[in-house]
Amino acid sequence: MSLLVVGSMAFDSIRSPFGEVEKVVGGSATYFSLAASYLAPVRLVSVVGMDFPQEVIRMLGSRSIDTRGLVVKEGKTFHWKGYYEYDLNTAHTVTTELNVFRDFEPVLPEEYRDTPYVFLGNIAPSLQQDILRQVRRPKLVALDTMNYWIESSPGPLREVVGKVDILVVNEGEIRMLTGEYNLVKAARKIMGWGPSRVVIKRGEYGVLHLSDDAMFAAPAYPLEKIFDPTGAGDSFAGGFMGYLASRGDSEITEMDFRLATMYGSAIASYTVEAFSTEKLQNLTAEDISERLGSFLALTEFRI
Ligand code: AMP
Repeated sequence: MSLLVVGSMAFDSIRSPFGEVEKVVGGSATYFSLAASYLAPVRLVSVVGMDFPQEVIRMLGSRSIDTRGLVVKEGKTFHWKGYYEYDLNTAHTVTTELNVFRDFEPVLPEEYRDTPYVFLGNIAPSLQQDILRQVRRPKLVALDTMNYWIESSPGPLREVVGKVDILVVNEGEIRMLTGEYNLVKAARKIMGWGPSRVVIKRGEYGVLHLSDDAMFAAPAYPLEKIFDPTGAGDSFAGGFMGYLASRGDSEITEMDFRLATMYGSAIASYTVEAFSTEKLQNLTAEDISERLGSFLALTEFRI
């Protein structure tokens, strides 16, 4: 079944202890769509400026990614500049230039309005709300956000979080959002606002997945080469939602949520092996299955 995503498409300028790149293609919706496209058809909603490379839009369109909801506008593409120290779990923002996102008012193509699975990726909470207003009774809605929006739009963010089924955030952000250091308590607080599940991304420590009556912890795959963690969170979310969307009409069980978490973790583990989308866009189905197998081996034990 189809999966709709709204989020940023960006140029990223990144420094990590392993190198530096200037204005490479990034953005939450870009990473998400590429990751999800291995598992389900994606409908993309975003905006870029005239400076965004046409070949990237063509590359997205050549996969199972519908780009009719991508607007190319007069002006400059969103630009994020940041760096990582050896603690690759924390991205430090130097500048966020919203550019064409500043006055973007998304209008969903009619064909997108009945999309059953929706991911409100990292972007202004008011835009996330706009999208939610335009979709008709989706089966499952998940949302991601980051410190920039928690600080600049707390009210609208709280409102939109209250309307979704799953919150997918990283550990620093859920602490900031709830004012609660303990992750289990923070997740319970969010569930009190509306969502029935909370998925906490913990970088190299993996993922903690909580609902009212279950908890699931997935490790991150211990890699020998890591270049750039940018996009890992969105690739995780893409794999996670892509797997759920691939289940179609069937009822989603706790085991589906767990397997979705492992698909997300497997795909995200490839993203960090190169800068930008280089590795992510060149995966095969075998790569993904192989990494899932490695996760099984990593966590198997008997009592
Ligand atoms: P992550 O997957 O969490 O590493 O997110 C990485 C992507 O988030 C980068 O490619 C950035 O372009 C994008 N990004 C950074 N800041 C923002 C922001 N304030 N709003 C939306 N996207 C952002």
